[in-house]
Amino acid sequence: MKIAFIGLGNMGGGMAANLVKAGHQVNAFDLAEPARAAAKEAGCEVFHELKEAVEGVEAVVSMLPNGGIVKAVYENDVIGHAPAGAVLLDCSTIDVATAKQVASAATKAGYEMVDAPVSGGIAAANGGTLTFMVGGSASAFSRAEPVLQAMGKAVIHAGDAGAGQTAKICNNMLLAVHMIGTCEAMKMAEKLGLDPQTFYDISSQSSGYNWSLNAYTPMPGVGVESPADNDYQGGFATALMLKDLRLAMEAADGSDSAVPLSARAAALYEDYNGAGNGALDFSSIIKTY
Ligand code: NAD
Repeated sequence: MKIAFIGLGNMGGGMAANLVKAGHQVNAFDLAEPARAAAKEAGCEVFHELKEAVEGVEAVVSMLPNGGIVKAVYENDVIGHAPAGAVLLDCSTIDVATAKQVASAATKAGYEMVDAPVSGGIAAANGGTLTFMVGGSASAFSRAEPVLQAMGKAVIHAGDAGAGQTAKICNNMLLAVHMIGTCEAMKMAEKLGLDPQTFYDISSQSSGYNWSLNAYTPMPGVGVESPADNDYQGGFATALMLKDLRLAMEAADGSDSAVPLSARAAALYEDYNGAGNGALDFSSIIKTY
């Protein structure tokens, strides 16, 4: 298949390379020269004009920083420029409202489009083991699925346009809450004199069982190996968690949803990120307790 890929950064670079490995012909576009050079090295054909990159393709995939950029890219250079039969896949994490708007503009112009944000970081993007949560019609999903399968281990249809972004931000909002809850419980148990490993052994098999404790233990030397054992390098950066929490708070406002615990978690991550910890893994918030 001939596929245009827009946004060859930390995530998109590896994803485009996996499409090449799966035998697709990839037309790659990014504003940054180093990203274009790496894509060329990975076997993509590199373009300096987006409108030229989308000519004659059967699918367009994007992995961009935010909703404003996604909207501008699709409205200015993709819709009306890619062939009308092309399927459009935006894998960026953006706000639900913009995802719906862009999909609606694409549909009106005769395209099928999905929002397909990912779970998994740079290692999963490079390794082709991302999980995609997909919003769009059944027909758009069936066309997007084989493209996404070349870049991931799981592709799940979440519902109509915007449902992928909804799943992503609700999931990460829950993640922030159980990470902070886990940090608080581990530190309090320690202050009350319980050995943290003993607390882990008990709680990880009791009703405190949760992913942050069991699969991503935030305290070094306790529980499973995680970014805590590597000075909180790698993993899922605090700045990216905060980006997702801001999107979640915006969606909560827009849908009149009550989210008192998540709002508190978002405020704690705002403070922690503001104190210069944006590059550290999000589990490092345990250091504030
Ligand atoms: P990044 O900043 O490394 O990459 C974004 C790329 O987009 C850059 O190379 C930039 O030059 C390019 N770009 C910006 N504007 C452009 C435009 N108008 N046209 C073409 N290219 C343009 O970011 P990333 O870490 O790869 O993240 C991309 C998306 O994936 C974000 O929405 C992010 O929230 C999401 N995400 C990231 C991770 C992660 O661990 N990094 C995990 C899950 C989801």
